[in-house]
Amino acid sequence: MTIEEAQQQVDNWIKTIGVRYFNELTNMTILTEEVGELARIMARTYGEQSFKESDKDYKLADEMADVLWVLICLANQTGVNLTEAFEENLRKKTERDLNRHQHLAENGERIANSE
Ligand SMILES: [Mg+2]
Repeated sequence: MTIEEAQQQVDNWIKTIGVRYFNELTNMTILTEEVGELARIMARTYGEQSFKESDKDYKLADEMADVLWVLICLANQTGVNLTEAFEENLRKKTERDLNRHQHLAENGERIANSE
């Protein structure tokens, strides 16, 4: 599925099964909520927080999909073409950061060489 197809499928779903979009500020709040659910899994899987029994139903991939879903809703509501936006963002990052992180590779080599 392309990003364009994802935007179209979400739009179709919202206008049929979902009936209508929540307004933009509601969806912004829901996006924040979904990012929190993702953070909950990350803190418990990769961080130092422990799982509670009630956390067991959370799935990392599903929570990432929830975040993407609401972000796509917001893009659709605000007229953002995410394909173009992502391509432009990638181009910007590539130009800006072409040499920015090279020291990390050099440090990594130093660490690897010292072992
Ligand atoms: Mg969720």
